[in-house]
Order: sequence, then C-alpha cells, then structure tokens
Amino acid sequence: MLVSAKEMLNKALEGKYAVGQFNINNLEWTKAVLLTAQENNSPVILGVSEGAGKYMGGYKTIVGMVNGMMEELNITVPVSLHLDHGSYEGALKVIEAGFSSVMFDGSHYAIDENIKKTTQIIKIAEEKGLSVEAEVGSIGGEEDGVVGNGEIADAAECQLIANLGVTMLAAGIGNIHGKYPENWKGLDFTALAAIKAVTGDVPLVLHGGTGIPESMIKEAISLGVAKINVNTELQLAFAESTRKYVEAGKDLQGKGFDPRKLLAPGFAAIKAAVKEKMELFGSVNKA
Ligand SMILES: [Zn+2]
Repeated sequence: MLVSAKEMLNKALEGKYAVGQFNINNLEWTKAVLLTAQENNSPVILGVSEGAGKYMGGYKTIVGMVNGMMEELNITVPVSLHLDHGSYEGALKVIEAGFSSVMFDGSHYAIDENIKKTTQIIKIAEEKGLSVEAEVGSIGGEEDGVVGNGEIADAAECQLIANLGVTMLAAGIGNIHGKYPENWKGLDFTALAAIKAVTGDVPLVLHGGTGIPESMIKEAISLGVAKINVNTELQLAFAESTRKYVEAGKDLQGKGFDPRKLLAPGFAAIKAAVKEKMELFGSVNKA
C-alpha cells in the first residue's frame, strides 16, 4: 500500500540520512525503482512530473500500475507516490487519482499567493492523508521546459511556508535541475544552514540531485536535507546502456529486437544507479 512520505522523512531527518525521490517515466522505470528499493530494504519516493503523468496515460494509469506492481512483486518497503512540481490543478488531480504525496510548486508566484495556494492544498491533502511538499524561490535549470538560474531561497520566506504545516520544504541553495554546468559554484551551505535555523523540524528537499559531488550530498544531509530528487541521472544511465546495445548491433541478432531484450540493459542501468544513490543517501536498510 502506498504511504504518505511524512513518516519516512521524519525518520530520515532524525537518523541523518535522506530518502531518494526517483522520477519514473514508464513501466521499466517503475519496476526498476521498486525492485531496487525492496532489494535494499529502503524506503522510496516515486516522483511523477506533470509531463511524465501525461506521457504515461494519466495519473490514474500510474496509480493502477504502481499499486498492481507493489502487490504482484511483493513490495513491502514504504513507497510514496508523489507529484513532482505540481501546479494547483495538477495537485488536485493527483489527490483525486490516488497518489499518496504531492508537491505544490508555488515558487513562481509572489510569496503571498504561494502561501495562499499552499495553505489550500495542505488542507485538501491532509483530509486524505497525503504528505505535501512546498517550494520557496526558484531552483535553477530546466524541468519540463522551465529554466531557472540556481537561485537561493530567502530564509524568511522559507519560515513562512514551513509554518503552514507542510510535510517537507524545497528551497533553492544553488542546486540546478538537469546536468550541472562546469562553472557551477556548488551548493550554498551558509544559505542551507540559515534556512534550517528558521524551519525547525521540517525535512528539507534537495532538487537536482544529478551530478552533485558526494561530499556535498553528505554535508547537505548533515544540515537537514532528508529527501533528494534524482531524475536526469537515471535517464542518462538508461540512454547510455540502450545506446551500447544498439550500437553493438544486438537488436539485429536473433530476437534482439524484442522489447523485453532491447530495454533490459537500460533497466539494469536504472537499478544500478538507484542502488548507488540509496547507498550514498544512507537509506539502505532503513525501511
Ligand atoms: Zn525539482
């Protein structure tokens, strides 16, 4: 059964580790992440962007697939199905469809509007037992066509949103979605400490987890980050393995064109990438 992310994140904050949010794109992604979580006895959050939701045939399709897979594959670790960077309308839709967690991203609104809309989503989500992630300021890089600049969230604004009763809070500390540019300055730990100081026990979320050096990940966790989002890294791993298979001409040998064979190397690559992240984040054996 899908669970809210609240308990797993509060445990992570207390135990000084982080739970990974791995964004899914299709059946292979979902199965790879769920099986790896089970094999490593780790809690896990499946992230779904609005774009990926549309791609997979709608939120109800995803809820059906995830619930069915958890039952059939005997997935017993805590799993949360979470909307990533949701709009107000998107958040309402996934609550209705059966997700167990939702991010309402009001970071592009003025703070008053962000507070107003986040408050409404919390009220609706809480009635159904869902966890809620809110965001302050903008996080850089590209996500579904939206580009930002590695911004730093304002601590006072973070405090206002944290006080609304959100389960978890995403705040920019120089992190970027997608691949990091070579001239990237790194995470701003002074900003993170300032945000942590005024947001109390609210687990903080680090978006853009692809390509952040391990030492920075560990320092972020020690300063209160309890959820780390990983998306691009799995896409790169999948693409690289699939490319190798095709370039080696394996799809032309025997029944190598069978999707179950063609997609197998990419599937294995996603599993390896997820395992590596779970080990780095410290969530192995924390289910
Ligand atoms: Zn994000």
